[in-house]
Amino acid sequence: MRIIDRIYIDGQFVTPHGSELGDLFNPTTEQRIARVRLADAEDARAAVAAARRALPILASTSKEERIAMLRRLHDAVAARSDSLAATMAEEYGAPAYFVAASVQRAATVFLDAAETLKAFSFEQTIGRAQVTLMPLGVVAAITPWNSNCGFICGKLAAALAAGCPIVIKPSEMSALQTDAVTEALHEAGLPPGFFNIVTGTGPVVGAELSAHPDVAKVSFTGSTATGRAILRAASESFKRVTLELGGKGPSLILADADLGQAAKIAAGAGLMNSGQACVAGTRILVPRAKLDEFLPLLTAAVAAVDVGPMVSRKQWDRVQGYIRLGREEGAEILTGGEGRPEGRAHGWFVRPTVFTGVRNDMRIAREEIFGPVLSVIVYDDEEEAIAIANDTAYGLQAYVMSGNADHARAVAARLDSGRVVINGAGHEPMAPFGGFKQSGIGREFGHYGLMAHLEPKAVIRP
Ligand code: NAD
Repeated sequence: MRIIDRIYIDGQFVTPHGSELGDLFNPTTEQRIARVRLADAEDARAAVAAARRALPILASTSKEERIAMLRRLHDAVAARSDSLAATMAEEYGAPAYFVAASVQRAATVFLDAAETLKAFSFEQTIGRAQVTLMPLGVVAAITPWNSNCGFICGKLAAALAAGCPIVIKPSEMSALQTDAVTEALHEAGLPPGFFNIVTGTGPVVGAELSAHPDVAKVSFTGSTATGRAILRAASESFKRVTLELGGKGPSLILADADLGQAAKIAAGAGLMNSGQACVAGTRILVPRAKLDEFLPLLTAAVAAVDVGPMVSRKQWDRVQGYIRLGREEGAEILTGGEGRPEGRAHGWFVRPTVFTGVRNDMRIAREEIFGPVLSVIVYDDEEEAIAIANDTAYGLQAYVMSGNADHARAVAARLDSGRVVINGAGHEPMAPFGGFKQSGIGREFGHYGLMAHLEPKAVIRP
């Protein structure tokens, strides 16, 4: 059986000091396909030390040098896109359309960062002060399994653009993908220590990085519960944090929306990445007067979406538990239900499930399920719709569907959400990404993502 027994520190692949082995699975077959030798706290400290040695070198590079490095990283990842996609399909199991988009984005995120850097000024004069935006220092990135290469590349791109070396701890469940992307990144030939990648568990390597005194910032993507633990650990040395956490996004269908189009958008937004998406629109808000017309359209739209398996047995059990809970709470199943989809004897596949008769105070409407389970909630007027949309602990991404652009924008303006997507508009990679409320702290991507890695320093003349 294949064993991933290397991590990446100081520009080299090295054997971890940690010796514990973790299992890696193919979620489509449920077979164990490889094992990973997990890094430990000593490995994390070695990676931070390498990043710290690299700090003065990276911090003193010019904008042009960093742009050139970002372009080399893009080219290296793009050149390996086929093998990255194959590894992602095997270890994560997502539908082909999602794998292709994810891998492409893992490469283009470096070009986006290069564009941002090109337009960015690190110097400003304010009165008698010369203000310089300085790199924060060593960044630790901790990432989840639901778009492994995308998160690794996105966080690396932003840190490098700012002049900060980085130590990345990806999810221990994505070690094959991490190994494949690390090999691509190594090909870019960056100086030692600029980026370091150590796969280990959260409570060991993640916790060490979140508390390490030489780490100036933690950039985390993952669950709200882990985000809270990281925030606590980071507070000891006042580390800067960017926390990209969970969501329970509303898909708000306004009374003037084209219902056929709205059903397709709502199904796509709710089931993207097999429902394992922080930005999924999992609460579908429908005008009461349109419900009977809308539900058959939604059932058909859900059936047309390609949904892959859950990442793990644990995640499958968790989603099944929420489908049971929905029934116990008194919601009705429009389509789907417990168990595997018909014709699937193996694999952690879930039946895409839509509940109707959901009240916004039910747990299925309040908690992030992270699987293909959607709730339809009816409203009587637009004020009530906006109140329901905002009545959540989260605020990451919302969706508005309307036949009138001004109407959609007016409603979008009233939603407490880091992003609002109108009528199925696509991703905007340069726009800030991040959440209101318990969906997190800070923003990633573009100008705002770069700013989050910098500290202003004012030198005042007499
Ligand atoms: P998770 O919080 O369990 O794990 C995320 C990462 O944190 C992993 O690398 C894990 O090893 C590490 N970790 C766990 N415990 C830790 C600790 N005590 N200290 C430091 N690190 C620790 O999340 P997950 O199950 O991997 O991913 C799913 C979650 O991620 C969902 O809640 C989802 O909403 C969220 N997510 C958010 C975004 C976003 O951008 N807002 C994007 C994708 C996923």
